[in-house]
Amino acid sequence: MSRVYNFAAGPAVLPEEVLKEAAEEMLDYNGTGMSVMEMSHRSKAFEQIVTEAEKTLRDLMNIPDNYKVLFLQGGASQQFAMIPMNLMKNRVADHINTGQWAKKAIAEGKLFGKINVIASSEDRMFSYIPDLKNLKISDDADYVYICHNNTIYGTKYNQLPETGDKILVADMSSDILSEPVDVTNYGLIFAGVQKNIGPAGVVVVIIREDLITEDVLPGTPTMLRYKVHADNKSLYNTPPAYGIYICGKVFKWVQNLGGLEAMKKINLEKASILYDYLDSSKLFRGTVVKKDRSLMNIPFVTGSDEMDAKFIKEAKAAGFESLKGHRTVGGMRASIYNAMPTKGVKLLVEFMKKFEAENKI
Ligand code: PLP
Repeated sequence: MSRVYNFAAGPAVLPEEVLKEAAEEMLDYNGTGMSVMEMSHRSKAFEQIVTEAEKTLRDLMNIPDNYKVLFLQGGASQQFAMIPMNLMKNRVADHINTGQWAKKAIAEGKLFGKINVIASSEDRMFSYIPDLKNLKISDDADYVYICHNNTIYGTKYNQLPETGDKILVADMSSDILSEPVDVTNYGLIFAGVQKNIGPAGVVVVIIREDLITEDVLPGTPTMLRYKVHADNKSLYNTPPAYGIYICGKVFKWVQNLGGLEAMKKINLEKASILYDYLDSSKLFRGTVVKKDRSLMNIPFVTGSDEMDAKFIKEAKAAGFESLKGHRTVGGMRASIYNAMPTKGVKLLVEFMKKFEAENKI
């Protein structure tokens, strides 16, 4: 068996232990004589899987009882519409624009109401999180929306905007479970799981109970109502069953590592291996202002497109996969989610040092 070090932004590397365990259970899950893929989502065995997955996530994130956890489909992108359809009572929302995924949520929100962009970092290629001190939260806004970690540009919020009595909604697709969060700061958190949790096809939504109502925008389809999924414990229709099963295993994996405090410690150490090198390198440099650097997605450049392409090619040949930056920004990006072993980052830095020595500028 030969596995590469996979630095893809998502779908992304998953813990090897989880994949092995799932492989062992592939033909006969827990004495059922079938794969989780093959079993009824109404069966006892699956009910246990989904209940246990939710319980472990609640433990990990310390999710209070007045929040529901939903396992949905449609990708994180579907939440860009589902959120306004369910929460936009006044048809107004305040958004902070920190990159492509934030922009997509803005565009989708505009299908339903007025979106006020109350801060943006577009002027400098989204290389920082905008100043949050003097935000003008709109009196009539139904919620304030942020993208907590910007997968493409490699920034993250280390502080939250002060939203007063307004609900904060956060897209945590690329940093959920990377460190502890205080769920009570948010009305709604969502994450496509294909980066830090599991296989594509599942979206986790953590939503405060009082926000789950029948008062949704006219025409909101049944499948896009949080209440329908909450009332049916994520089993209104056939759920992404196998995906939820893998998510449950990854939740346990994080728990066994010591939970989110331990995960944060590991992630800080891991990211600093790469950032420290970038800060000392004469060939490579990080593109994000230091205080807003993501622990999960680390973009960097050499300043020359040719040199970037040479690096990506040679890195791939050496077993470092998917280091090419997003097509809209170029350069390189190393996504180092929870499941990327520290060894992978150390070896990448070794390789970068060697490349730098061979390609003096
Ligand atoms: N939000 C963020 C922060 C992302 O990184 C992505 C995907 O990369 C998305 C949303 C969109 O996710 P999906 O492809 O599941 O719709």
